Amino acid sequence: MKNLLLVLLASILVAAAQPVRQSVALIVIGRSVITQNAAHRVLSPGAVAIAGTNIVDVDSPDVIARKYTAAETIEARDEIVLPGLINTHTHAPMVMYRGLADDLALLEWLQKYIFPAEAKTVSPELVRIGTRLAALEMVESGTTTFADMYYFEEEVAKAAIEAGLRGILGQTIIQFPVADAKTPADGLARAERFVKEFKDNGLVVPAVAPHALYTNDKSTLVRSAELARRYDVPVLIHFAESEDEVRLARDQFKMTPTGYLESIGFWGPKTLGAHGIWVNDDDIAILKRRRIGVAHNPESNMKLASGAAPVTKYLAAEVAIGLGTDGAASNNDLDMFEAMRQASFLAKHAGRDPTAVSAQTALDMATSGGARALQMADLIGSLEPGKRADLITVSVSAPRQTPLYDPISHLVYTTRGDDVRTTIVNGKVLMKNRQLRTLNRAAVIADANALAQKVREAISKP
Ligand SMILES: [Zn+2]
Repeated sequence: MKNLLLVLLASILVAAAQPVRQSVALIVIGRSVITQNAAHRVLSPGAVAIAGTNIVDVDSPDVIARKYTAAETIEARDEIVLPGLINTHTHAPMVMYRGLADDLALLEWLQKYIFPAEAKTVSPELVRIGTRLAALEMVESGTTTFADMYYFEEEVAKAAIEAGLRGILGQTIIQFPVADAKTPADGLARAERFVKEFKDNGLVVPAVAPHALYTNDKSTLVRSAELARRYDVPVLIHFAESEDEVRLARDQFKMTPTGYLESIGFWGPKTLGAHGIWVNDDDIAILKRRRIGVAHNPESNMKLASGAAPVTKYLAAEVAIGLGTDGAASNNDLDMFEAMRQASFLAKHAGRDPTAVSAQTALDMATSGGARALQMADLIGSLEPGKRADLITVSVSAPRQTPLYDPISHLVYTTRGDDVRTTIVNGKVLMKNRQLRTLNRAAVIADANALAQKVREAISKP
């Protein structure tokens, strides 16, 4: 009897010494967790605990199990867990123009095909249906954040929120009449309304997006930047994308595109420039000094034969550089795994240097680098306590991924978007084991196909 009491007492003491397990919403367990933190910590195996919109802990599955109980556990023990990919430059609704005009140079492609097709077909409906299709493609291929520039950007925002994706969404401003604005002043007013409407949204960061220096005059560029600064929101622009643009800036302003934008006071805080291919050392120094983020788009740049951005120089100068797909009309998909692979191959090929843009560097650009380029590194880009729970799991059991020695190598050199199994944004599961939770896959694709018939008819009319 006395012994029994002692045993009972001892077990009560042991139980009391056990810390109470904290309840969380979600635990994700993976074969490896690639944190992409500053030390590039990898846990094999690893687990991530998520509560609300945030990551609360990253550790071994045993430690996480001792500390937390979860409402939902995602067992991805054969999969790699990593931060969701950040697409720093796209035009989501342009998935509706996928394959419409291929095999052309940038200015001819834009002026003879894309701008006329857009003039005939861009509408809130096209932007809504196109963004839903793009969102479906992004969720299924592991993109959790996208930076976008387009027309009727409020429709992009609504579709992104509905899908559960994070977006830095820029209302386009352009000098000539377009579907959502007759004049640049209309475009600026529309951008201001858009910024006010979405300023405090948890998923969407509204932005101002003057298209480029060759499609806007000085006053429009300056007013776009001023508008963004007044509301403390990002500015998104295309710059130094083609040799034609360099020639135009030299003929009109006797400067480089980067130098011209500096001379008019355009570069400022929270500015992301897409492409930045044709830059000299002085230009890179300007971008560094102004803390401009650069979105590198290797596939679009190769397809339009625009050139190869000096990625190695940007990295050496510590300019924040992220990766983008650009719009699907010049890529022709939104797969960020392919963007990583091509970023690595293009840098190696262009520099005749197989050590340029290693697998780790390409993965950095698609995650932590993209977060820095968007000046959101405090929130996204790595798996760390306190950051937003934006993460994906990737299957690595296909024949082409066998055997597996180095997960980083596999992520960049053999993984494809459709290897993604689970996508989580802001703590919410958007896809689990390829089953979508926010988007109706069949309806999104059917709507896009029905709309494509209208696009086909509209562009075939003279
Ligand atoms: Zn673009």
